[in-house]
Amino acid sequence: MAGNRTFTMIKPDAVAANNIGAITKMIEEAGFRIVAMKMTKLSAERAGQFYAVHKERPFYNDLCQYMSSGHIVAMILEKDNAIADFRKLIGATNPADAEEGTIRKLYATSIEANAVHGSDSDENAQIEGSFFFSDIEKF
Ligand code: GDP
Ligand code: MG
Repeated sequence: MAGNRTFTMIKPDAVAANNIGAITKMIEEAGFRIVAMKMTKLSAERAGQFYAVHKERPFYNDLCQYMSSGHIVAMILEKDNAIADFRKLIGATNPADAEEGTIRKLYATSIEANAVHGSDSDENAQIEGSFFFSDIEKF
């Protein structure tokens, strides 16, 4: 069903800070069902593929280095209105601008090391989920 899935990663800063449990708890308590989940590590090349849409941006190389600096936790999440509701739960890209009580306000340390990823469209959620999970893992 369109519109009921999103893709997220707990990024290297939040994994290193032992916040996997706290962030996953917030996600579940907000009503998202975890459909698929995997702890893994990206190479700089693979991070570059994931963020290819940003390759002309000045922060692209730093972003690829950061995203390959440690382990990440990839998840596919299910909920009605998943994309918009999850973007609301994580807050603004820059934690300085994020609303109180959002994941990024609570756990991000900078505009780059901002704790979590959230897909921005149904189409990208599908592409990003398939970047990490096979069909049988996505069920
Ligand atoms: P998001 O959709 O809120 O994650 O933000 P974007 O899609 O615009 O950017 C992707 C990721 O690039 C962000 O989550 C940050 O990790 C990083 N990023 C975005 N803007 C900046 C920036 O101005 N400087 C740096 N260093 N990183 C940024
Ligand atoms: Mg984005």
